[in-house]
Amino acid sequence: MDNLENLYRQVIMEHYKYPLHKGLVEDDKSYKKIHLSNPSCGDDIYVQIKIEDDILKDIRHDGKGCSICCSSASVMSDLLIGKSVKEASAILNNFLKMIKGEEIDEEIDMQDAIAYIGVSKFPARVKCATLSWKALEKGLLERK
Ligand code: ZN
Repeated sequence: MDNLENLYRQVIMEHYKYPLHKGLVEDDKSYKKIHLSNPSCGDDIYVQIKIEDDILKDIRHDGKGCSICCSSASVMSDLLIGKSVKEASAILNNFLKMIKGEEIDEEIDMQDAIAYIGVSKFPARVKCATLSWKALEKGLLERK
């Protein structure tokens, strides 16, 4: 288990140091921007999503926060770009369940997002890990 935890820690640090899809797109109305913050940790992030034909064509993120929060935004965007809204919602729900320590659907390929499974043991970090995912959820809900 120690090796696995090390591996997960490496995945998180890798995304923290070299975040994917970071930086917002300016002056493009096809993107929807969501802002969420987590005052208890100081995390403050923006997530932008672009949906076309029910597909998440692009996800961008920016902001500041702890390693858990920033890396999670990178993982979330990389995992969900190109997915249909339905697929993305299923992955999102699975991630939120996993962070709460609930049983997850093993059929869903969580890729790097599985690295956050240990966060359920640290209630103070739950908001950090889920902030960007909650922003995405808000963006998906608001578009209806
Ligand atoms: Zn945080």
